[in-house]
Amino acid sequence: MTSLSPALKQATPVIVDHAKGSWIYGTDGAEYLDFTTGIGVTSTGHCHPDVVDAARDQVGKIIHAQYTTVMHTPLLELTDKLGTVLPDGLDSVFYANSGSEAVEAAIRLARMATGRPNIIVFQGGFHGRTVAAASLTTAGTKFSAGFSPLMAGVHMAPFPYAYRYGLDERAAVEFAVRELDYLFKTRTAPNDTAAFLIEPALGDGGYLPTPPAFLDALRERADRYDIKLIIDEVQAGVGRTGRFWGHQHSAATPDIIVTAKGIASGFPISAIAASTETMSKAWPGSQGGTYGGNAVAAAAGVATLAVIEREGLVENARVRGIQLQAGLKAVQSRFPVIGDVRGIGLMQGIEFTTSDGQPDAETAAAVQKATTEHRLLTLTCGPEGNVVRLIPALVVTEGEISLGVERFEAAVATVTGAVPAGVPA
Ligand code: PMP
Repeated sequence: MTSLSPALKQATPVIVDHAKGSWIYGTDGAEYLDFTTGIGVTSTGHCHPDVVDAARDQVGKIIHAQYTTVMHTPLLELTDKLGTVLPDGLDSVFYANSGSEAVEAAIRLARMATGRPNIIVFQGGFHGRTVAAASLTTAGTKFSAGFSPLMAGVHMAPFPYAYRYGLDERAAVEFAVRELDYLFKTRTAPNDTAAFLIEPALGDGGYLPTPPAFLDALRERADRYDIKLIIDEVQAGVGRTGRFWGHQHSAATPDIIVTAKGIASGFPISAIAASTETMSKAWPGSQGGTYGGNAVAAAAGVATLAVIEREGLVENARVRGIQLQAGLKAVQSRFPVIGDVRGIGLMQGIEFTTSDGQPDAETAAAVQKATTEHRLLTLTCGPEGNVVRLIPALVVTEGEISLGVERFEAAVATVTGAVPAGVPA
């Protein structure tokens, strides 16, 4: 009998029968509050009726035409719709299927546009699992192990991880900027450097918002040295952080944006956006692929963007994110195993530490497992595996956030065996 690869790791034992909004209904008959959402993919919630209708409609018209051969209307519509949310100046787009592919395409574009070889990435960044994307990823050695030799020309600078360094945010940014400038002197000169590649908030690297001042410093150096600033919005984009794009918490504008995941509520499509001037530096034929810009995925993307706008989901993410973080901080005050709660919008991380402040992956893993028993789906992340991350759908309600926090606390209490401080036994 054939079975799935043993190297695949399923974070929960749940088998889905169907799903709706923030809820997954298992074949075991249980109802799970889904705070994983395919890592931010089901942005408008599971099976939003408008997305379902758009996809169903499209399947009857045309399922696929390679858009480098013949064009179809869903892709033209999606391009128009993206134009309404993309930052000024990023007026040229092309499509692929996954985040990894789009990241690789962005790197290729930056190299072609600058004629320079090197890429600077930031510690804890996650950019995908294909060989080049894994070469750019430093969110855990498990993502690059076994791939060597990795793609050449990738240089890693520190990320301003204030909690880890025991610094306040400002000092962490100063430290990281100083190290970046030092990297220009010690390893990759500015005129050898094609691009910075950074997430607006580290995703798989631990749910750490990138301080706006750090993005501003990258923009300043990008301008000074003609380096392309590539923002990987695959996980943090499309409303998740309470702004449409995660980088919009800072004044820095990217030269290239990469987006995927939430853009089509679960259909595989990714996009790369840049200025026409930058895009025109790509060699003809260097962009495209068999399935990129699939018509059903594009139709789902159009519906997704319309739903996000009509239902005010970016604002919902902001408000529910504040509620979620406040609830988690209250839990933190009752359980000393929680060292840090941080995040932005509906992207919140809970870092577990031992009594002497060391990463505690064992407790994080046990809590993640226990949340499933309490009917809340969560995931871990971080290079040391000691962060539990919560990624609710953008449609999540006030009641669902309260319930999620309640279930999360119950899971922590189950694992620690502790009655929370301040609660009578
Ligand atoms: N970049 C970021 C920021 C991501 O979070 C991910 C996926 N977790 C990727 C790239 C890779 O996307 P995919 O899995 O679709 O290749």
